[in-house]
Amino acid sequence: MGTITENIRSISSSLPPSVKLVAVSKTKPASSIEEAYAAGQRIFGENRVQEMEEKYGLLPKDIEWHLIGHLQSNKVKYIAPFVSLIHAVDDEKLLETIDKEGRKNNRVIDCLIQIHIAAEETKFGFTEEEVESFLLSGRWKHLKNVRICGLMGMATFTEDTAQIQHEFHGLSTFFQRMQQGVMSEHPEFNQLSIGMSGDYPIAIQEGSTLVRVGSAIFGDRH
Ligand SMILES: *Cc1c(COP(=O)(O)O)cnc(C)c1O
Repeated sequence: MGTITENIRSISSSLPPSVKLVAVSKTKPASSIEEAYAAGQRIFGENRVQEMEEKYGLLPKDIEWHLIGHLQSNKVKYIAPFVSLIHAVDDEKLLETIDKEGRKNNRVIDCLIQIHIAAEETKFGFTEEEVESFLLSGRWKHLKNVRICGLMGMATFTEDTAQIQHEFHGLSTFFQRMQQGVMSEHPEFNQLSIGMSGDYPIAIQEGSTLVRVGSAIFGDRH
């Protein structure tokens, strides 16, 4: 395990130009983010609203803050003024709340819809069928202060790389089908957030555009 600077440099230089690195800084101090920032990193991912808000207050304003974890509707207001991408929209009501808070802040907030692809029961997200029927329904079109920019998923926590690849492949196939079908007139629907420290090379092979990498940059979380 190298320093934060070395890790950022080696991971960034290994990514194809079509893939952006989200450095997942949850639980890590602002000083660790500053080190990554000095190495050129600008996109950081957090999974807790309060922690992200605190770090936003402390750190340079050209950082793009991505909320990657489960988001409760009553907390959207705290991040709506500055969040640049919400990865894990897992409920239609949540999308409506984000729209409402976006309007209050005179912003259009970019969002990804989370699809449940893992074998574990506990992870949040929609099924593919639910997302397809929601997109087809057009109910999102009147939400002028959110932009649905793609999909997000988390693979099963397993050593079985064939299973991980299979899960990512399924999501990627579904993503492309939506892109070419119901979302074909929405070029902003172009982001696929898959891949973490243990599986991002597989995710890239399967068409990821956003990898969310924490421990491979900042070390283990305790
Ligand atoms: C913590 C987290 C990550 C990063 O996990 P690592 O294994 O440390 O890279 C990615 N995505 C989500 C949703 C997370 O909560």
